[in-house]
Amino acid sequence: MSKPIEVRNPRTGKYDYVIIPPPPKLLAQLCSRLRRAQKGWQKLGVQGRVTALQAWKQAIITSRDKLTEALIADTGRLSTSILEVDSFVSTIDRWCQLAPKFIQDTARETEIPFIQIQQTLVPYPLVGVISPWNFPLLLSTIDAIPALLAGCAVIIKPSEIAPRFMAPLLTALNSVPQLRDVFTFIEGAGATGVNLIDNVDAICFTGSVATGRKVAEMAAKRFIPAYLELGGKDPAIVLESADLELATSAILWGAVVNTGQSCLSIERIYVAESIFEKFYHQLVTKAHRLQLAHPQLESGEIGPIIAEKQATIIANHLQNAMEQGAIVHCGGKVEELDGGYWCRPTVLTEVNHQMLVMQEETFGPIMPVMAFSTVDEAVQLANDSIYGLSGAVFAGTEVEALAVARQIDAGAISINDAALTAIMHEGEKNAFKFSGLGGSRMGAAALNRFMRKKAFLVKSKAIVDPWWFNS
Ligand code: NAD
Repeated sequence: MSKPIEVRNPRTGKYDYVIIPPPPKLLAQLCSRLRRAQKGWQKLGVQGRVTALQAWKQAIITSRDKLTEALIADTGRLSTSILEVDSFVSTIDRWCQLAPKFIQDTARETEIPFIQIQQTLVPYPLVGVISPWNFPLLLSTIDAIPALLAGCAVIIKPSEIAPRFMAPLLTALNSVPQLRDVFTFIEGAGATGVNLIDNVDAICFTGSVATGRKVAEMAAKRFIPAYLELGGKDPAIVLESADLELATSAILWGAVVNTGQSCLSIERIYVAESIFEKFYHQLVTKAHRLQLAHPQLESGEIGPIIAEKQATIIANHLQNAMEQGAIVHCGGKVEELDGGYWCRPTVLTEVNHQMLVMQEETFGPIMPVMAFSTVDEAVQLANDSIYGLSGAVFAGTEVEALAVARQIDAGAISINDAALTAIMHEGEKNAFKFSGLGGSRMGAAALNRFMRKKAFLVKSKAIVDPWWFNS
């Protein structure tokens, strides 16, 4: 028996849930079983797999309240949990519509008239998924759904910090025998993640850069592909011509939704100096309107800080900024209320790139605002980061904004909006720099990560090839 892990409730601080990681031997056996069943899943064909996933979706919809309740207990927030369930259901539908169009064998003639090329796609037998706690449902399933439709078996290890949502999903899975044999979730922390990588044929990892590096090293040793989606420190650039009303509302949402606990949160804001004062005054006014969802879940928009370790990081970044002269216009501290950790939307000015809050991922509702005098300076500041996940540019015209966006070293830039990759999953993108590695998780190309291309080179006429030995 592995040692049970106690799980903290983010609203109460109490350890009120327990998970039990599978012992390594049992995990290895489970992976072998899934890999054996995958052959039948692949033979089922994409339409058969669509039918099984739709049946799972229906079972989830029937027990939707239980899933939402579990997510609320995991994360302490209400509306984002509802949004997460909605988005998860529509992700299944979107992939069920897309996959049949992309999983097709093809055949074509070549420049050599008697040789034809036929192409087929061969799924990786077993894909492992390791996911974080900030959007527990979405981020554990975002890669699993396309992998299943591609014909892979899938095993998911969600974060030990937010694992309650697994139980209702597994119950729904039990009602779909075809899917149950090739798809499961396991409980556990880092050690179970390590064991999982030892037993799968490809690994999708979403989490921190530090852990991502370890995952990449393990995957390299095993010669399996690792798709890494890691941290971010997204910049927003607001040009002089921008619509301030729109920019402040968009940036507030992009920085503070889910209490800033998103990889794609706006964490640095660069504003043209001519509009700097007006900009941050508006941002502060709007930030003041947001309330903590405490004591009731419905009391406000700002949920608790989910992970205790993150509360410490946010507090350190704030302290470090204030020690170096940052001015706090609202929020500014991590509060402990009834056992949970909370942080109100915080606007900082007088910040610089020596501060942790401008360099390292904060993962909290913190909005440091800095003035720039030229567009070149704004671009240079935006690119002064080890991260390159996404970003945003605000300008009077799309052309002006795009000209700046093209110069930012990041995989997706929202134009006159913020954090759009949270909503739009169609735009293909790669993570730049330390924000990740591997093919696009967004767009139809995401499917390709789970299949290897195989070519049949078919001779169609019984003739002597001109390049053969003629002796
Ligand atoms: P984390 O790296 O601490 O943990 C992520 C997962 O890895 C967890 O399931 C954990 O149990 C597991 N793990 C820990 N050590 C491991 C090891 N040695 N081998 C294998 N697995 C191991 O990250 P976190 O704190 O859970 O999540 C927050 C981070 O995730 C932030 O950096 C955030 O930006 C990032 N994130 C990225 C994206 C994205 O799409 N780029 C999305 C959400 C979150």
